[in-house]
Amino acid sequence: MFENLSDRLGGVFDRLTKQGALSEDDVTAAMREVRVALLEADVSLPVARSFVKSVTAKATGAAVTKSITPGQQVVKIVHDELIKVLQGEDAPDALRIDNPPAPILMVGLQGSGKTTTTAKLAKRLKDREKKRVLMASLDTQRPAAMEQLAILGQQVGVDTLPIVPGENAVQIAKRAKQQATLGGYDVYMLDTAGRLHIDQVLMDEVQAVRDVANPRETLLVVDGLTGQDAVNVATEFDGKVGISGVVLTRMDGDGRGGAALSMRAVTGKPIRFVGLGEKMDAIEVFDAHRIAGRILG
Ligand code: GDP
Repeated sequence: MFENLSDRLGGVFDRLTKQGALSEDDVTAAMREVRVALLEADVSLPVARSFVKSVTAKATGAAVTKSITPGQQVVKIVHDELIKVLQGEDAPDALRIDNPPAPILMVGLQGSGKTTTTAKLAKRLKDREKKRVLMASLDTQRPAAMEQLAILGQQVGVDTLPIVPGENAVQIAKRAKQQATLGGYDVYMLDTAGRLHIDQVLMDEVQAVRDVANPRETLLVVDGLTGQDAVNVATEFDGKVGISGVVLTRMDGDGRGGAALSMRAVTGKPIRFVGLGEKMDAIEVFDAHRIAGRILG
């Protein structure tokens, strides 16, 4: 498991007391541990391979001094590389919500935490940035989901678009835009329908809504516990709809963190937020250092 990676690496190097530079054999032994830990954490094989390759290149020949043991040295190199892979180069740190009313499209599979995340982000925008936010549920197939958003809206003090039975998703999106404009809102968030699996109907609907709303941000909500599945879902959504970022939910669970590492490397899309519980405040801006620390233990 990721939690033990530091210990594992320490163990490999415990028997080494020499100083100077790390030899290729030392590094190879350590990299076996890294590779196993990554695969156990459900990091995809190509990502694990390329990660190990670049750490190997950096660690071989790295200087080891009195103040740092060989094990600590490799842990540091692994840590720095984790940050690089998790962070990417150009991750935006704030939501693009200029030009009010700014539309934010929330997409994802059913059960990923999409509705909860919509309300959490709306609350965050209201509390921290003093924005007036309007939320609308587009889940016409599941009246319970629409009601859930309305209830969460009341709970966090954010307005929701009144539910009008019989409207389709595109009609609701248009009404949300109109209401947001007339009502002087800064942001309107469209909580699209989730399905249990990615299918053409879902994608067609999301595309139609996207074309009407022209969102400033399209955030994909995925369950962080689902490892490579989360990455596959992100690849699909990005290819069909285009996403501007990912929210990884359930990062409070004892998840293995593999999704975080593969996500950026495979999709090229930044993880923008992580969900850390069911409560409405349980969301944080993605912090590569924190995840790397968690991975290394
Ligand atoms: P949706 O179908 O994608 O809209 O999913 P919901 O927003 O209804 O969330 C499904 C369940 O996951 C609810 O019980 C949420 O409280 C829970 N949930 C959402 N995000 C998180 C999270 O970050 N951590 C935990 N532990 N639970 C979450």
